[in-house]
Amino acid sequence: MGAVLMDGHAVAADLNRETAVRAGVFTQAHGRRPTLATVLVGDDPASRTYVRMKASRCPAVGLDSQRHELPGHASTEQVVDVVRMLSDDPRVDGILVQHPVPAQVDERRVFDAIASAKDVDGVSTASFGAMAFGEPGFASCTPAAILRLLDAYEIDVAGKRAVVIGRSPILGKPVAMLLLARDVTVTICHSRTADLAEAVAQADIVVAAAGRPGLVRGEWIKPGAVVLDAGYNPGNLGDVDYVGAVERASYLSPVPGGVGPMTIAVLLAQTVDAAERAHGVRLSA
Ligand code: NAP
Repeated sequence: MGAVLMDGHAVAADLNRETAVRAGVFTQAHGRRPTLATVLVGDDPASRTYVRMKASRCPAVGLDSQRHELPGHASTEQVVDVVRMLSDDPRVDGILVQHPVPAQVDERRVFDAIASAKDVDGVSTASFGAMAFGEPGFASCTPAAILRLLDAYEIDVAGKRAVVIGRSPILGKPVAMLLLARDVTVTICHSRTADLAEAVAQADIVVAAAGRPGLVRGEWIKPGAVVLDAGYNPGNLGDVDYVGAVERASYLSPVPGGVGPMTIAVLLAQTVDAAERAHGVRLSA
């Protein structure tokens, strides 16, 4: 029997409907729409596409967006200055700096210049710390999207064994922390992991976040495991061998159409959260 495919578009549409209602209430109360500011440094075509996709979804859920672009030769100071200006601007609720920035820019310094209250992409050190300690703040969007997909399919994760493949600060590490907070026993793998196949074979939940097309082979997957493929590689390919995985997994998030649409929906929802919190509308983790 094949896996249930986790429909990221459908779950994202539900979340977007909720976000639109909340954005409408905010706009009525405050006379302006919740606003997401995006910052793009340089001309990388993929990054430009991602920023455009994120900004273009804003109107459909009642958000405004601002786009800020810096040239590919911009210095760390120049990017930090833009981020500080947006952090201080009361008309901006959320800030997204598109990753990756050009090599001469210190991405960590840029991310950490984002005011915590506006870090709707959950990329700063402070946001990671808050998320890891279970304190109020914004989780990184893709990890939060993965947890929302699990919840949407009512998958009980407590006590299960998960393997997370990848340890980046925006994806692998935070999703491991969020699963740990749900009482999952988590193993984090990376490029130096000695036996990835063995680690995957033990797991009830597999989160693939390596950026290596087809890295996770179908025959590695424990029958009945839940497989979340966060990889997004050229050619619309995930990190999981889809054909092999769909035969063995109980649930599988496809690429495209799984984690990706959910990530943008979480970003928009967190922008409304930020707007509401700035005006004391609601305070929640
Ligand atoms: P990243 O910063 O390049 O990190 C990749 C991680 O994978 C690293 O920790 C690396 O290990 C590990 N890795 C690489 N090759 C491996 C291998 N052969 N075996 C085991 N681990 C390996 O990438 P990222 O930003 O986290 O993104 C990962 C993937 O998710 C990409 O495909 C990206 O496009 C996708 N993504 C999707 C969304 C979405 O919305 N759907 C959002 C963000 C990212 P080391 O630490 O040892 O180098």
